[in-house]
Amino acid sequence: MTVRVRIAPSPTGNLHIGTARTAVFNWLYARHHGGTFILRIEDTDLERSRPEFTQNILDGLQWLGLTWDEGPVFQSDRLDLYRPKIQELLDKGLAYRAYETPEELDAMRAAQKAKGEAPRYNNGHRNLTPAQQAAYEAEGRTAVIRFKINDDREIVWNDLVRGTITWKGHDLGGDMVIARASSAGDIGQPLYNFVVVVDDIDMAITHVIRGEDHIGNTPKQILLYEALGANVPEFGHTPLILNQQGAKLSKRDGVTSISDFQKMGYVAPALANYMTLLGWTPPDATQEIFTLAEAAQQFGFERVNKAGAKFDWDKLNWLNSQYLHHIPASELTDQLIPYWQQAGYEFDWEGDRPWLEQVTALISQSLTRLDDCAAMTHYLFVKDVGFSEEALKKLKQDGSAEMVQAIAAALPNYQPLTETNSQDLIKQVAKDLGRKEGQLKPILRAALTGETKGPDLIQSWLLLNHRSWDIPRLQAALAAID
Ligand code: GLU
Repeated sequence: MTVRVRIAPSPTGNLHIGTARTAVFNWLYARHHGGTFILRIEDTDLERSRPEFTQNILDGLQWLGLTWDEGPVFQSDRLDLYRPKIQELLDKGLAYRAYETPEELDAMRAAQKAKGEAPRYNNGHRNLTPAQQAAYEAEGRTAVIRFKINDDREIVWNDLVRGTITWKGHDLGGDMVIARASSAGDIGQPLYNFVVVVDDIDMAITHVIRGEDHIGNTPKQILLYEALGANVPEFGHTPLILNQQGAKLSKRDGVTSISDFQKMGYVAPALANYMTLLGWTPPDATQEIFTLAEAAQQFGFERVNKAGAKFDWDKLNWLNSQYLHHIPASELTDQLIPYWQQAGYEFDWEGDRPWLEQVTALISQSLTRLDDCAAMTHYLFVKDVGFSEEALKKLKQDGSAEMVQAIAAALPNYQPLTETNSQDLIKQVAKDLGRKEGQLKPILRAALTGETKGPDLIQSWLLLNHRSWDIPRLQAALAAID
């Protein structure tokens, strides 16, 4: 049997981390078995589906490297497929038209509630006679299509993640609606559980791998497979992603869509790696860094946890930094430029590439996210950088002015400035003033960068020197001391 799996997002929002993680598990499973990974866009909710969300989903999956082999298949293109299947169930006597009004259904639920019972449809219109049906239709009532559910039926499946799951027909809420209301003789819009089953049969899906929040749909869907005379696929329900409080990660937790993670400067391989670990443990549990392809070689559901997976920002940040620290300077520079531009920095981005790559090399080992680059290199891109409070304090210490003055005076004799002669300059000035280098360097840093902390001092100086900004900075420091 060739494995055929699918990810079936609804384009009612941007690609969510939960959907993306489910996509990762589907992809890994498909690749492990040399199977087929299919993308289906479930866009039948016309009011809430939007093309920009579809685009965001396609872009996000592509960015993460979750390449699909078939699709995207759009449910909205396949509406003709569903109605004949509903007709088939009507013809087989497995489904029927039910004419209760919303008010009648509300009253039914209210009465059940008053008796302390769980609300369910009472199957009241299951056995209407043709005459009764005709009478309702003559009243102008519309009808939904309901699928018969045998209360006594036990539905059992062997979940790939959770083992044996048993569900009672009685707990499914009565005969289920599979198509919305429509006028006499028509079939209204088919609903989620039905459409998914028809699609999964049509696409020959062998394994339905989806979030745990769909467990309650599975027994209903199994009954539909049977009614349509199709093989029931395997099901695997993946654990939810939880926030730090242990509740389901939701929009209220802030960043949840893949495009937001991307904007914040997480890189795709790190995020994909992290999502793989959200619920799956590799056979060698100490192995934390791997590509999707490497994970696919080892992936299996026996190592997917049942318990929810807590989203851990520290772990994601650590992984992201590991990836960033290994990207070659040239490639990393390409990735940083948009963040520098976004910070409003102006530079000859194409003309002075060597300088930019040196800036990248200077900070690359300190980056956690790509967007960290803006704050870290502010003093290299903004000419009049000013001085922080701490830097000013340093510069106003006794003797600082003298040191800055001496460095400024010596500088013209050390051109072009290099790593070696800048060190010599510091040594010489320290000696001349009877100071230690350790006293001189913090003052020099404060004067050149406007801060008391930051990337390597000598490299920073060389980069500023390249822009001819070092002498003006020293002068500005002297002016600030006065
Ligand atoms: N469209 C559903 C969702 O976005 C997925 C349905 C399924 O995987 O069966 O949650």
